[in-house]
Amino acid sequence: MTGLSTRIADMTWYEFADRVKDNPIVFVPTGSVEQHGPHLPLLTDVILPSALAEAVAAEVGGMVAPPVAYGYKSQPKSGGGNHFPGTLSLDANVFIALVRNIINELVRHGARNIVLFDGHMENAWFLVEAADLALRDQAMLGRTEVKIIKLGYWDFITKATEALLFPNGFPSWELEHAAVMETSLMLHIRPDLVRQDRIPDDPAADFPPYDVYPFDTRPIPPTGVLSSAKSASADKGRAVLAQVVPDIAAALSREFPSGRGHS
Ligand SMILES: [Zn+2]
Repeated sequence: MTGLSTRIADMTWYEFADRVKDNPIVFVPTGSVEQHGPHLPLLTDVILPSALAEAVAAEVGGMVAPPVAYGYKSQPKSGGGNHFPGTLSLDANVFIALVRNIINELVRHGARNIVLFDGHMENAWFLVEAADLALRDQAMLGRTEVKIIKLGYWDFITKATEALLFPNGFPSWELEHAAVMETSLMLHIRPDLVRQDRIPDDPAADFPPYDVYPFDTRPIPPTGVLSSAKSASADKGRAVLAQVVPDIAAALSREFPSGRGHS
């Protein structure tokens, strides 16, 4: 199967109707339009989960829905904050309603195995709420066979891959915003979009153990990058992909034993 045939966006309605009959795993990438420093594009959190979801879908015979490109508001400790130019975010109730609506639409057309494949940490609890409300909607319609998985692909990165990415010590996935992992994946997947001469090398941000609203912008690095991205490389990106894709595919095959479509 080619990568192309996993994308619902590229299918005709005949192809969709034919494929969904086999009860495939249906992936919904979720991201954000968010600053990713001087070197990565605003759509990084959409490009990465979309590419990873397509690679996993190819392994499990799944289908990938068009991504939810807008996400919940960027926070200083995980995305630099919502004040950066070009960071276009949704209110939580809008995001929850949007994802809930998309899940219900997929189920209406026959999908039962759904994966919310997140690329933007701030979405996490609102994806939980969208899944919970959609399951309640479906239960009220008498459909109890719907199952939803929510995941952030970085949570699949093993200690061994972590050591390869960060030989000098791992900061945290929050501080990894636009840093080594995301930059490496972009260098591997979409090198044409990485401004290689502008990759920043600033020390990791130092935040207090509480949050201030309105944002206290003083601890936020002016580039919007929360730890150094200097050691990023396409090889590291390739290594992350090579480890994470089969591991996510294996986990989903266990969770959805009936969820193998065409392959
Ligand atoms: Zn990101």
